[in-house]
Amino acid sequence: MEFKKTIGIEVHAQIDTKTKLFSRALVDDMAKPNSQVDFLDAGFPGTLPVPNKQAILMALKTCLALNMEINNISIFDRKHYFYQDLPLGYQITQFYKPIGINGYIDCSFGRVRINRLHIECDAGKSIYKDGHTFIDLNRAGVGLMEIVTEPDLHTENEVIEFMKELRAILLAIKTCKADMEKGNLRADVNLSVAKEGDPLGTRVEIKNLNSFSTIKKAITYEEQVQIDTILSGKEVDQCTKLYDSEKNITKTIRAKENAMDYAYFPDADLLPVFLSDAIIEETKNNLPMLPKQMREYLSDLGVAKEQAYILTETSVRFDFFNELLNDITKYLAFKVSNWVCSELLGKLSKLEIELEDFLIGKVNFSSNFAKIINLFESGEITRTIAKTMIDHIIEKDLSFDVLFKNSDLLTKCAINLDALIIKILNNSPSEVEKFKKGKVQIVMYFVGIVMKETKGQINAELIKEKVLEQLNLFINKID
Ligand code: MN
Repeated sequence: MEFKKTIGIEVHAQIDTKTKLFSRALVDDMAKPNSQVDFLDAGFPGTLPVPNKQAILMALKTCLALNMEINNISIFDRKHYFYQDLPLGYQITQFYKPIGINGYIDCSFGRVRINRLHIECDAGKSIYKDGHTFIDLNRAGVGLMEIVTEPDLHTENEVIEFMKELRAILLAIKTCKADMEKGNLRADVNLSVAKEGDPLGTRVEIKNLNSFSTIKKAITYEEQVQIDTILSGKEVDQCTKLYDSEKNITKTIRAKENAMDYAYFPDADLLPVFLSDAIIEETKNNLPMLPKQMREYLSDLGVAKEQAYILTETSVRFDFFNELLNDITKYLAFKVSNWVCSELLGKLSKLEIELEDFLIGKVNFSSNFAKIINLFESGEITRTIAKTMIDHIIEKDLSFDVLFKNSDLLTKCAINLDALIIKILNNSPSEVEKFKKGKVQIVMYFVGIVMKETKGQINAELIKEKVLEQLNLFINKID
């Protein structure tokens, strides 16, 4: 019997503002526990929320990048529930009238519709340790965008592609840091299975998945649980589960609540959010290049399709690539993209470090990398040497000259001394002509250039020998 799974995603994306959604406390996931807490975040009586304009504008920008319709008036509601890390006793969210509705993201397998995007507050963190529960309120009140898709996804790979594209969009428009490990992008997966052709089955929600690999594993596991349940003649219970990545299982944490349970009502402390057509239009016109357009741009430069996806996964990658191209105008972009995708990103992924983290504090990396590609593409160094050099610059961020002054790399480069000499001869027709007419001492002129280019690392006699050899071949070829 063939089963088909149907998946919808709810994403919580932390809005990348300096301060929280309704208080002056800073957003800082590295801060000491409970050091970034305002009276409002701690639920003190008499405190009032003040909306963060920047956060609302960032949510607007995100809606527009996701092709959504904007509600000129959206409203903040209270969602009531009791939990130790929610001092207010309610979450401020947008239930009845969210800021954005009816958007979509186009993926390679088709369009994924986005039902809504609403703005809400995050809760604090409960930390369970040694039989105690500790509460950190630094996260309480941080602004989130909840992005809810329609059930348009059917496989693990489709979900991952969608999540990657959403992440790339958020990074391109800089409204969310989108670091899943740090929890500023979290996904809830709603999954149901049904026999091909049957109506949709009962869905189970798996909450707070914070990496692409756990999303994948949780779906695969939960799909099998539901299929086994149906095959054994039982019914799937609608419920909320958590994924345990150590045991690779999903386990039920509660039966699914209905909206009624939360007693939603508009927050009387907050005025409706009004967004004029003018501000919507202006925000729309100022959207930066989005991943889809970046890929079109790269493909116009001749970059292969799969590499265009890799280079636009984060805007840091795309910007880095463009910075390199500025230094390597002479060569084709597709060659540069080979170097970046296979040599650089390949190596970094083995080291388990993202390009954005790797580049922190490295000022010379891009120009060193460009110089190596230039040396290889002009035939002055072999591929093996280029790769060795790349290994070196990944380890040390020195300027190119300093980096290679005391290393034996340039001596190794002499393997291709001939190519360097030929290039110099090609660039000096009048000196070659003088040599041809019998001015033999001109050979020292070339030796000087070669020594300078190889930073004095190669024996002058050897260079002289090589130059003479190449000069004779050269003039014979001209004749
Ligand atoms: Mn939510």
